[in-house]
Amino acid sequence: MKTEQDHRDEIIRFGELLHRTGLVAATDGNLSVRLTDGTFLCTPTAMSKGLMKPDDLIIVDAHGHKVSGQRNVSSEIAMHLLIYRNRPDVGAVVHAHPPTATGFAAAGMPLDSALCSEIVITLGTVPLANYETPGTPELAEELAPLVGDHDAILMANHGVVTYGEDLLTAYMHMETVEHYAKIALVTHMLGKQQPLSDTHVSKLREIRQKYLAQNHVGAGRGED
Ligand SMILES: [Zn+2]
Repeated sequence: MKTEQDHRDEIIRFGELLHRTGLVAATDGNLSVRLTDGTFLCTPTAMSKGLMKPDDLIIVDAHGHKVSGQRNVSSEIAMHLLIYRNRPDVGAVVHAHPPTATGFAAAGMPLDSALCSEIVITLGTVPLANYETPGTPELAEELAPLVGDHDAILMANHGVVTYGEDLLTAYMHMETVEHYAKIALVTHMLGKQQPLSDTHVSKLREIRQKYLAQNHVGAGRGED
C-alpha cells in the first residue's frame, strides 16, 4: 500500500516527465491521485510541472475545496473530480496539452480511426469533447457522457485528459495518445489512411476486453 508521501513523490516524478517530454509547456497541465480517505492529492495552479517539490502539492475534498497545502487549487480540478465520481476504478488523472493531439483537438478531429492494432487494444478510441471554457461546469457536462467508456479524451481547442488505475497508467495513456496523434498526422501528410477492417477491429476488441478484465481496469464497462 502506497503512503501519501509515495504518492507525492510519484506526482513529482511524472510531472517532471510530462514537462521533459514536451507534453506541457510553462505552467500547463495538472496531475492528481485519489487517496484512501476519499480526498485527492493534486498539483497546484500556476506552477511548472517540471519544477515542483512534494510540499507544493495540495489536498482537496470531493467538492474541490482545499483541505491542506500552501498553494492554490487549479480551476481544472473540477474535470478531475468529475472523472473520479464517474469512474470508481480510476486512481489517477493526468491533464496536458500535448502539441500533436491538441492539434487534432483544435482541428475538431477525434482520434477514432483504427490505424494501429496496439492502440485499439490499449486505448480503444479517443473521442473529442466539444469546446467549453476550461474549469467550468459546462466543460464537465461535455466530458461526462464520454468518461465511462474511454480512458483518454480530447477536448476541443484545449488539450487531453487521461486516467487509469494508477498514475503510471494515466501517464502512459497520455504518451500513447500523443504518439498515436503523431502517427495519424503522418497518414494525413501522406494523404492516405488504410484503417483496420471491422473484422480485425472486432478481434482486437476481444483482446482488449480480456486485457481490461486481467488488469481489473474498467470492470463492468462495455465496449469502448
Ligand atoms: Zn488545460
